[in-house]
Amino acid sequence: MPLRAKVATSVSKTAAALSRAAGRGDGSVIGGWIGLKIDPELLTHLAAGRAIALVSGTNGKTTTTRLAAAALGVLGPVATNSFGANMPTGHTSALAKAGATPFAVLEVDEHYLARVIDETNPRVVALLNLSRDQLDRAKEVAMMAQMWRTALAGHPDVSVVANADDPMVVWAAQGSSHITWFSAGQRWLDDSFVCPESGHPIERANGDWWCTGCPLRRPQAQWRVEDDGVVDPRGDWHLVKLQLPGTVNIGNAATALAVAAEFGVRPIEALPRLSTVASIAGRYAQVDRDGRNIRLLLAKNPASWLEAFDMAEQAPTLLSINARDPDGFDTSWLYDVDFSPLHNRPVLITGDRAFDLAVRLEVNGIPFRHVLSFEEAIRSVPMGRLEVIANYTAFQDIRAELDRVN
Ligand SMILES: [Zn+2]
Repeated sequence: MPLRAKVATSVSKTAAALSRAAGRGDGSVIGGWIGLKIDPELLTHLAAGRAIALVSGTNGKTTTTRLAAAALGVLGPVATNSFGANMPTGHTSALAKAGATPFAVLEVDEHYLARVIDETNPRVVALLNLSRDQLDRAKEVAMMAQMWRTALAGHPDVSVVANADDPMVVWAAQGSSHITWFSAGQRWLDDSFVCPESGHPIERANGDWWCTGCPLRRPQAQWRVEDDGVVDPRGDWHLVKLQLPGTVNIGNAATALAVAAEFGVRPIEALPRLSTVASIAGRYAQVDRDGRNIRLLLAKNPASWLEAFDMAEQAPTLLSINARDPDGFDTSWLYDVDFSPLHNRPVLITGDRAFDLAVRLEVNGIPFRHVLSFEEAIRSVPMGRLEVIANYTAFQDIRAELDRVN
């Protein structure tokens, strides 16, 4: 590494450590920021010599990154940004902190994928899904798909691992010469009813989809979820035992297995490692408090709310909504979510924007009770399971009340 990059790496690590010591989070953003100020090409220098997988998409990228990093661990040490700092500052910091590892798996914010591909020269790029996100910040889905498509067209040597069930992802990946398709399902359909190629309607039936006006259609998937397991490209079925709930996470495991296979890791080697992942920065964590078993689910946008309903058991459920900077200020997306899966269970609401949620639930005909604090929520439900579904800062608030669960 050039001297400037060495100095930048060292300063970056020190800044991150100081930030941690000062109790200001994990320090990865500030560390990476300072490193890149000293050497703007630091990420490229740190990436050189490593075999890298990038994971991007609207939802599931933190979990899939964690699972893929666990799977690649079969081969040796893996650097990863496991705290969800998914912009170039976070990548820089993660690689600086990890030292010289042969492998890296990095979660990448959708908007930064093109830049991070340019700077890290990855071996594999995994594309999970594209759907609407924070309304006041995110790009439109079709624009994002176009950015991905352009980015991949400039790197024909990259292996792409992509979700065959999402038409926007398929269109974005299509131009690549080496593609492995996986099927992880698509619960949220509202952002892909129109073909990104021709503008014609997309039709769906029995898990298949096709454009009614051009040749774009669902490719055959080499990796797919079947029951509680995954079928590999040879047709062998593998039982997937996870500590993470829901079919959604079996889909994330299928993606991680497909990514690891690009590096030569076989499912039979990777699967025991996937089953060791219990929670990811508090997500899916279970905490016992006053006789209640509290489980934390993060849901940040309409598609992830549907996934959370799929994961939550039929038990009392607390919903918490904030609209601070990391959440986006606009809560009108609540009207995109169908809350009817919450019928027939006790529902509690809290958070800065609990009343927005109250109006939404009223429209959906879901009875609920408003509570002023997490403590009150715990006291209001009987002994046993309490499911908590919260958006970003609401989730962090509850995590803090439970003393920062991992
Ligand atoms: Zn079309």
